[in-house]
Amino acid sequence: MKFNAPRGTNDILPPESTKWQYIEKITHNLFTNYNYQEIRTPIFEYTELFQRGIGEVTDIVEKEMYTFEDKGGRSITLRPEGTASVIRSFLENKIYGQAQPTKYYYIGPMFRYERPQSGRFRQFHQLGVEAVASNDPALDAEIISLGIRLLEKLGLEDLDVHLNSVGCKSCRPKYVEKLKKYLNENRDDLCDNCKDRIEKNPLRVLDCKNEGCKMVIEDAPKITEHLCEDCRIHFDEVQNYLDLINIDYTVNPLLVRGLDYYTNTAFEIKDNSLGAQDTVFGGGRYNGLAEEIGNRDIPGIGFALGIERLLLSLEEQGIELPVEDSLDLYITVIGDKAKAEAFKLLDMLRNEGLKTEIDYLERSVGSQMKSADRMNAEYTIIIGEDELNKNSATIRNMKSGNEKEVKLDDLTSEMKQLVDKEVF
Ligand SMILES: [Zn+2]
Ligand SMILES: [Zn+2]
Repeated sequence: MKFNAPRGTNDILPPESTKWQYIEKITHNLFTNYNYQEIRTPIFEYTELFQRGIGEVTDIVEKEMYTFEDKGGRSITLRPEGTASVIRSFLENKIYGQAQPTKYYYIGPMFRYERPQSGRFRQFHQLGVEAVASNDPALDAEIISLGIRLLEKLGLEDLDVHLNSVGCKSCRPKYVEKLKKYLNENRDDLCDNCKDRIEKNPLRVLDCKNEGCKMVIEDAPKITEHLCEDCRIHFDEVQNYLDLINIDYTVNPLLVRGLDYYTNTAFEIKDNSLGAQDTVFGGGRYNGLAEEIGNRDIPGIGFALGIERLLLSLEEQGIELPVEDSLDLYITVIGDKAKAEAFKLLDMLRNEGLKTEIDYLERSVGSQMKSADRMNAEYTIIIGEDELNKNSATIRNMKSGNEKEVKLDDLTSEMKQLVDKEVF
């Protein structure tokens, strides 16, 4: 019998997992600086939440959800994204009764039944933020800058913000009617998919990659020319705030999001480094979402970023994350009596915060030294019968080859000094 991980999933093994830890650490630190707090929602929710919160006519809900009936006969779905759960939680826990806005972030696995391909998995991971209960355009700029700063902190360069406003429920329907009319006039030049979309979801025609469709779209009416006064002001203000903190952006009227609850700001962060523009992640305002899933008029804005996708960008730009993969000290042991003493020392060293390792395979001194090398030990020490008798041993700096004799009783304090100050 042989087991494999399910199709579309993968094991994140060391040292790869250290990159994940690094990204998570940077995320926790940076998001905390922006005063976002972590929220952890369940991995699964009632299916209806996603049907309402993502929309029935999206690819996710139509084709990609992991949905099953539990033993109680309830329809359950593994979360395909994070926003619906966060807003569900905000409403359910009556967080709106507290001081606002509420600023949350999350990191965790998401599940979509997609055809596995490079960088795309059925269990994948997202980190995201949601700022709820404020419609202040400064918050839109904060969210966008937070995304950019995160990528910059990880070392990514050549990033471009594409920015648009998708209007609101008072101005967008009029625009959509105009767009429909235009698309119908040019119906013959559209791909079959887009012919279908004219009625179902005409905004999605705008991001079709088909060459014929692109030609039609070029002359299509632009939403930025059809915004109502409020939406126009909001959009201008977002741009003003981005200017204030020197975030470059390109207004892209073709950047839209298909669902009705999306309002105002929509943005995507693109990676320009390889010539072809590649979206790293996107986000935007969803002032209609709380209404959709909880009959409450509460604005919100956020973004979600795929960690697998982010790792690909880092790889493409040749960025090595500064991950910690060394050992402070490797204790080489000769003989059983020394092993007992070394094991006690090991415990003390570790409790003092020193990353320490010992041999567990009763190997020769030569093999143990090879292990020390493989584990990138900064220092090694040999403990055998002689050392026990003298109650002292020699610490060796593996890089410089320098050595220092220490009393075994002083080993921990000596090592602490060495690691802190790198004295020799
Ligand atoms: Zn509007
Ligand atoms: Zn098309």
